[in-house]
Amino acid sequence: MPNSLQPEQIIRPEILALTAYHVPPAAGMIKLDAMENPYPLPSELQEEIAQVAASAPINRYPDASAAPLKASLRKALAISSEMDILLGNGSDEIIQMIAMAVAKPDAVLMSVEPAFVMFRMIATFVNIQYVGVPLQQDFSLDEEVMLAAIEKHRPAVIFLAYPNNPTGNLFDAATVLRIIEASAGLVVIDEAYNAFADASFKDKLNDYPNLLLMRTLSKSGLAGLRLGLLIGRSAWIKQLEKVRLPYNISIMTQLIAEKVLHHTGVLAEQAEAIKSERTKMSAFLGTMPDIEVYPSKANFILFRIPAAGEIFQALKQRKILIKNLDGTHPLLKGCLRVTIGTPDENTQFCNTLHALLTETV
Ligand SMILES: *Cc1c(COP(=O)(O)O)cnc(C)c1O
Repeated sequence: MPNSLQPEQIIRPEILALTAYHVPPAAGMIKLDAMENPYPLPSELQEEIAQVAASAPINRYPDASAAPLKASLRKALAISSEMDILLGNGSDEIIQMIAMAVAKPDAVLMSVEPAFVMFRMIATFVNIQYVGVPLQQDFSLDEEVMLAAIEKHRPAVIFLAYPNNPTGNLFDAATVLRIIEASAGLVVIDEAYNAFADASFKDKLNDYPNLLLMRTLSKSGLAGLRLGLLIGRSAWIKQLEKVRLPYNISIMTQLIAEKVLHHTGVLAEQAEAIKSERTKMSAFLGTMPDIEVYPSKANFILFRIPAAGEIFQALKQRKILIKNLDGTHPLLKGCLRVTIGTPDENTQFCNTLHALLTETV
């Protein structure tokens, strides 16, 4: 290699212009920034997992089709036999597979703004044009603007998170259906927060041939395993399977996820605990005079607060890590996002925030 060779000469300019997805260090912190489930698994289930892990044939490549795991998912999530399943190393990887598969030279990937940042980032990774349609002030869909954008850009695929991240709200279902109907391409409903939402488009899969549904186990308690799935008609799943790397789901993920899926009651109970803490935390934030709280159907709460940056830093100094969204999008000016933790973590967050706002700290 000539030693004068610089990355700028080789790497695509849009990659050079990116800042890598930032994961802040969290050792010793109360970690309320990444929508993780704060609860461990019961010790008996941990024991079973230890046994499964000990005898896993890690000298062999994993089952490339992961058929037993898919069967367990089908049962646990009540997925109709008419629909196929594609597995991803996290649903992030599924977004990437879809984007790669549709990336014709003029193709457009559309989402809303603010939304999950990986939609835009992955569009850039795979060299497909990204169009982000702004939400309204209250983070609802702007149907008129959205339909006009669909007509103008004819997106190959639209990603909508339901509930939306980072705002936490569910979009109006009738509006979403009209978007699906108006779209000449695929519409992927990303239900990463389904465990906390009491709402889904799963029952609509049969009615809309261009609809795909994405889920993940990350937010319900298995973020470290990395397992996401896409549910849809076999005609689509078959094509997307072609861009899936053959062994993308590790043997540990396959075996442990399957084990945990036989105890879905555990995860469901934890989700209920998180939902009831969400109610308490929303109510608390609502009592603070300067805070505007947004309704959430996810395991996090978005709120707007004066001097958001300072509050974020002050919490961080006190070992409480949340997410600062101020400056990431005009609609998120002054916004912070807190993930629901354990009751103890939430109390510490609320007390510290209260103290900061009443300046007793
Ligand atoms: C967290 C999140 C994902 C990614 O989840 P993984 O399965 O862990 O990759 C996808 N979509 C949305 C909206 C998310 O918030």
